[in-house]
Amino acid sequence: MNPGNAEGRPRQSGPVISESSVATESKVTQRPAAAPQSGLDLVVDMESIALQYAVFAGWPVFPVHWTDEHGCSCRKDCGRDAGKHPRTPHGVLDATTDAAQVAAWWQEWPLANIGIATGAPGPDVLDFDVKNGGLGMETYQRLRAAGLLRGVQATVTTPSGGCHLYFPAGGHRSGAPKADGKALGLDIQCQGKYVLAPPSRIFGRKYRLTGKRHRQHPAVHAADIPAILQLLSPAPPVPAPRPARERQPGEISPGDDFEARADWADQMLLGGAGWTFVRQRGAALQWRRPGKDGGKSALTGGDRGDLFSVFTSEAPPFDKDVSYSKFAVYTLLHHGGDFSAAARELRRIGYGSVGAVS
Ligand SMILES: [Zn+2]
Repeated sequence: MNPGNAEGRPRQSGPVISESSVATESKVTQRPAAAPQSGLDLVVDMESIALQYAVFAGWPVFPVHWTDEHGCSCRKDCGRDAGKHPRTPHGVLDATTDAAQVAAWWQEWPLANIGIATGAPGPDVLDFDVKNGGLGMETYQRLRAAGLLRGVQATVTTPSGGCHLYFPAGGHRSGAPKADGKALGLDIQCQGKYVLAPPSRIFGRKYRLTGKRHRQHPAVHAADIPAILQLLSPAPPVPAPRPARERQPGEISPGDDFEARADWADQMLLGGAGWTFVRQRGAALQWRRPGKDGGKSALTGGDRGDLFSVFTSEAPPFDKDVSYSKFAVYTLLHHGGDFSAAARELRRIGYGSVGAVS
C-alpha cells in the first residue's frame, strides 16, 4: 500500500453535487501512514473531494484546520473555532479552483477540512444554526413554509445539528438578519465568506450531504435573498395616524374648555409671560411684548376672532404675523409645543368634561 500516491486513490468523475459524487461513505482510501490518528484504518480522501469541488463544480476551495484527539490541528485552544479556521495565511482569499494548487495543499495536509468560498463563482449558502438555543430551525421552517427555500442545489447537515442550503450564487451580500434586535439563527453566506464542506468533520462529526441536485436541474435556482430578508426582518411599519377619538355627546375637550374659560391676562397665558396690556380699541385688546417700553406688539380679539395675533418677530416662541388660540399660546409657553401634554395637564387641573350633560 502506498497511501501517498494519489494515483492509487479512487477518484470519481462527474460534476460535484451530481448524484454520484461527493462525500459518499464509499469515498475512502488508506489513511496516510504519516498521519496516524484515531485508530481507524480508513479515512476519507479529502484531496480527491476538494478537487471535485474545485474542478468539476468550479467552486474555489482552500484548506481548513482539522481536529484530532489533541484538539485543533493548530495546537491552540480554539474553542468553537477548532477545526474551522483556515490552514493558509489568507484563508478564504487563498481559495482557488486551480487543481495543482488544491492537490498540493491536500498532499501537504491530507486531513485538512475543506473550505468552500461562498458567493460567485461558489454557491450562496444559507447557514441555519441551532447551537445554544439558536432559532435556526424555526427560521428554516418559516422560510420553507413561505416557499423561499426552493431552488436548493445541495443540503448539508452540520456537526452541531444545523444545516447548510447551497444555492447557485445570486450576487447578494452576506448577512445575518435579525428581528427586534434578536438573531434568527441564519447566516447568509455570500461573497467573502466560506463554509466547511462535506466530508469535513469536527471531532469525528461530519458535515454530511443529505440532499443534492445537479446544478442543471430545472428546479435549481438562486435563492431570493431579498424576499427572505423581507420576511425575516421587515422594515418597521409606518405607524398609522391615530384616528381622533370620538367624542361623547356633550363632551368638551380640555383645549376647548380652556379656550372658553381662560382669560388672555391669565397667569397661564400672557399675564404670566411678561406681556403688558396696553389698551382696548373696539373689540380688540392691545398687548406689548416683554422687554419693550412702549407701543404694541400684538392684539387679541377683534376682527380675527378671539386669537392672539402677533406683529413682531421679537417675541419668541411666537412668530410674526401668526394668530394663536389660547390653547396654542398655553401649549407654546408651558409645554414646548406638545399639544398632547398640554391637554393632559389641562385635564388634570380641571378643564374639559366627559360630558353627556345636556
Ligand atoms: Zn485551531
